[in-house]
Amino acid sequence: MTNETWGQVREELIKRVGKHNYATWIEPLKLSQLKNGVARFEVPTIFFGDWVQRNYGDHIRSQLSSAGAPVDRLEFAVGAAAAVATPPAAKPAGKPARSRGPDEDLPGAPLDARFTFDTFVVGKPNELAHAAARRVAEGGPVTFNPLFLYGGVGLGKTHLMHAIAHELQARHPDRRVLYLSAEQFMYRFVQALRDRQVMDFKELFRSVDVLMVDDVQFIAGKDSTQEEFFHTFNALVDANKQIVISADRAPGEIKDLEERIKSRLQCGLVVDLHPTDYELRLGILQQKVEFYRTQYRGLVLADGVLEFLAHRITTNVRVLEGALTRLFAFASLVGREITLELAQDCLADILRSSDRKLTIEEIQRKVAEHYNVRLSDLIGPKRLRTIARPRQVAMYLAKHLTPRSLPEIGRRFGGRDHTTIMHGVRKIEELMLTDSQLADDLQLLRRLLQG
Ligand code: ADP
Ligand code: MG
Repeated sequence: MTNETWGQVREELIKRVGKHNYATWIEPLKLSQLKNGVARFEVPTIFFGDWVQRNYGDHIRSQLSSAGAPVDRLEFAVGAAAAVATPPAAKPAGKPARSRGPDEDLPGAPLDARFTFDTFVVGKPNELAHAAARRVAEGGPVTFNPLFLYGGVGLGKTHLMHAIAHELQARHPDRRVLYLSAEQFMYRFVQALRDRQVMDFKELFRSVDVLMVDDVQFIAGKDSTQEEFFHTFNALVDANKQIVISADRAPGEIKDLEERIKSRLQCGLVVDLHPTDYELRLGILQQKVEFYRTQYRGLVLADGVLEFLAHRITTNVRVLEGALTRLFAFASLVGREITLELAQDCLADILRSSDRKLTIEEIQRKVAEHYNVRLSDLIGPKRLRTIARPRQVAMYLAKHLTPRSLPEIGRRFGGRDHTTIMHGVRKIEELMLTDSQLADDLQLLRRLLQG
């Protein structure tokens, strides 16, 4: 009952707090008890529980109530299993030893124990980022500062940063490694301002050996946080301490980020994680399957399923992983072999949403290329049969392969009326029944366009 309720509540919370916050703050929560109006959670660190209480406490309480489990208090206890970024109170020699509480020592975010170099699959799209991360993780003399990793959602930025932190802790347990998101940096800073402890804040951030700030695009447009970040950054670079930054785009492309920060960020090594390719996706799936085999013993995975997923789910690795998780859970629930058919059924929504979005322009270009006519002619007013037919083919494909309406399509075809488009689409539908050459053309074009 408890877990079922919590499952429902979590679903709701995704909608309330957004996917990213959900993954960071809600997903790691383990509901350990729910009774007498108190919900008790296991969390990785005290700081973590504190943050969730402050930021999401109301959401959690109200959702629990709607799910039929009214609570008036949330409690957070540090769980045994969780990993924490903070090395055991190692202070650089020569600094006056100040006693700090364990969670106050380094206010880092919890590290995900699964995000190591061992579990990171290397392929063409991420080999540079991986190599750079490895180099930093050796902890040798600082050669580039900062290391700036950027790339789209779910391509492994956070994974690599955690891997660096794990590795540094293993190799150099005395180093103070601080990993946190830019959002947490801001939160700590605002809290320090409010509590008039800015000096402590500064001292703390300047006392680390390695600072890692994830998703730095978050501080764009937040002026005082940027200012403080800039000073922290400079102080650490001057002291020859390693900095690792991630963002969803290149430094120069982050809007509302101060110029001086942009140029500072570009001073080190800037590497991007490219979108995954088929081989990398397949490699990641194969690695994850190894893990699932131990979890769900006896489940049979049919040939071709992984290849199918790697081919069809191209959005990002997080979605790919989610698909596999769901597939295994579903198959074990219904006690069936994991076949292509099962995958198609159980992942229909994911498969649909990761279908590539085709544009009318792409269709026009491909069609023009195929029939060897000029793109401008295809769109233009010429009424020659050799051009009019391909034009109708393009209209037909635009209607069937994109969600665009007839008037919208008309606009992309040189401002034609929607009745003209409808006529073209019908014409092709008719002809393809009798003209096998045309039917073949359409089939080929569809395949080319849908990858
Ligand atoms: P980002 O921070 O770039 O949005 P994450 O690092 O959170 O992405 O990665 C999303 C998920 O995909 C994580 O579970 C991560 O372990 C996984 N992942 C991404 N890239 C790889 C890879 N190359 N090998 C293994 N797992 C990966
Ligand atoms: Mg991330």
